[in-house]
Amino acid sequence: MSDKDWRGYSIETQGVRAGQHRTPEGEHSDAIFPTSSYVFGSAKEAYERFSGKSEGNIYSRFTNPTVRAFEKRLAIMEGAERAMATASGMAAINTVCLGLLSAGDHVVCSRSVFGNTALMFKNIMHKFAIDTTFVDLDDINEWQAAMQDNTKFLFLETPSNPMGTLADIKQLADLAHSKKALLIVDNVYCTPALQKPLSLGADLVVHSATKYLDGQGRCIGGAIVGNHALIEEKLYPILRTAGPTMSPFNAWVFHKGLETLSLRMEKHCANALEVAKWLEQHPAVENVYYTGLESHPQHELAKQQQTGFGGIVSFEVKGGQENAWKVIDATQMISITANLGDVKSMITHPSTTTHGRLSEEERAKAGITDALLRLGVGLENADDIKADLGLGLNAL
Ligand SMILES: *Cc1c(COP(=O)(O)O)cnc(C)c1O
Repeated sequence: MSDKDWRGYSIETQGVRAGQHRTPEGEHSDAIFPTSSYVFGSAKEAYERFSGKSEGNIYSRFTNPTVRAFEKRLAIMEGAERAMATASGMAAINTVCLGLLSAGDHVVCSRSVFGNTALMFKNIMHKFAIDTTFVDLDDINEWQAAMQDNTKFLFLETPSNPMGTLADIKQLADLAHSKKALLIVDNVYCTPALQKPLSLGADLVVHSATKYLDGQGRCIGGAIVGNHALIEEKLYPILRTAGPTMSPFNAWVFHKGLETLSLRMEKHCANALEVAKWLEQHPAVENVYYTGLESHPQHELAKQQQTGFGGIVSFEVKGGQENAWKVIDATQMISITANLGDVKSMITHPSTTTHGRLSEEERAKAGITDALLRLGVGLENADDIKADLGLGLNAL
């Protein structure tokens, strides 16, 4: 059944069944192929493989059965023709840049993207004469005004981190296409279990597999998902030559991670909503940022383009940084760490950690105050998560 077409199936089934590569041993779980190279039956076969006259494995920088199994499963789940795995989420974004951009090109990027993504454009691409204009994620006029004749793509994350602001993917896809540019969406926070940007008009999805695709905080990896021609012509040559390759072991972990993705995301969402509702009525809490709350200004848009609201909840405590730190330091269970997408709940103070390198003005523009805390809500019991937050909050 390994080559069955799983496209008509639901995402839960796709996650469990699609992309399996079963060997003649008949193993039920997937095998790992930790090999750097492959042998050929004859000189002629080697020639045909290398010259592209026949398909098959050559060298694991760009052909490996375990990596391919993960790619096939993820592509089916995103509703795409093709996925290409990379060594990390940043390697995926870098590969998109190297494949699609040349000196003199221009990019429009949301201000509310992962810190290193902004640095990729601002520092690294800038060295190669590629300029980027940063705009407010939810201001369509700003996106429109930023577009130039040489704009090659628009780049965004929705929902944004840590404020949970959304972009209207369909509207931005239409804008990009009206100017012959592409729309690229980083789908890390929702994953295909909650949001399928390609079905809303995006041209490419990028992933940090490190987060929810793994789901248990074990491996670093990434992926690019989209149509076959774009990946084959523009991005696969970068993988083959520049080598931002995913290891077979990591691919195996991510492949298995996808089997439980839908189930985990459902529980992340349910726990996050329960915690957000509890925070919203807590007297020591000033504001809660979670699109699952009816009070959130983009609640309706979230319902339209997502099937769930995700696992990230941000909130402001009364009393600024001092009280925010008190809440963190009073926790006994929740991990003090910045890496989300894990089964374990985590808490962080963005203005002094993940967003500490921004200027005060940039932080203010992004809405990140000293009172803000970000939760990655994990899969523990929601009552235990609330109780752990309550240790600090109830004492303020
Ligand atoms: C973590 C993350 C990345 C980078 O991924 P790595 O696997 O850490 O390289 C990119 N985008 C978002 C939204 C992330 O959270």
